[in-house]
Amino acid sequence: MNIEAQKAVTLAYTLTDTDGNILDTADANEPFVYLHGSGGIIPGLEKALQNKSKGDTLQVNLEAAEAYGDYSEKLLQDVPREMFAGMDEKDLFAGAQFHAETNQGMQVVTVNKINDDTITIDGNHPMAGKALRFDVTVLDIRDATPEELAHGHIHAHGGSCEH
Ligand SMILES: [Zn+2]
Repeated sequence: MNIEAQKAVTLAYTLTDTDGNILDTADANEPFVYLHGSGGIIPGLEKALQNKSKGDTLQVNLEAAEAYGDYSEKLLQDVPREMFAGMDEKDLFAGAQFHAETNQGMQVVTVNKINDDTITIDGNHPMAGKALRFDVTVLDIRDATPEELAHGHIHAHGGSCEH
């Protein structure tokens, strides 16, 4: 069986930046499972995995644009401090990350700078602007279940989800 659309794919991987710093890993004990062809993983990686088989290992080098996108100054935005009124002061510092509902869905937003009356937030993905290297092993490939296909994502551990 090869990796193609509507397959549930189990991967182990090590993700590093171009300096060799490890940013993320998944191994056989805690593998990463995704639904191929659903846009659930970054496009360059999904493309590289197309037609691969169980046991294959591959090294995927991605420019920022093929990974989490180029860094965009336009995604820096000054918002009124009041918008953070409900938050603890100690949670508000440059580099703090939180999830926010945006017109592109739920996204990670990073606090860029604390100003007197406003807070500069950064809507770039934390890995935007970074060239990435994935060392990937394909651990397993199976057909996705009809329910998984309907949901557009994998139900891990054979369980079901609440939606
Ligand atoms: Zn689901």
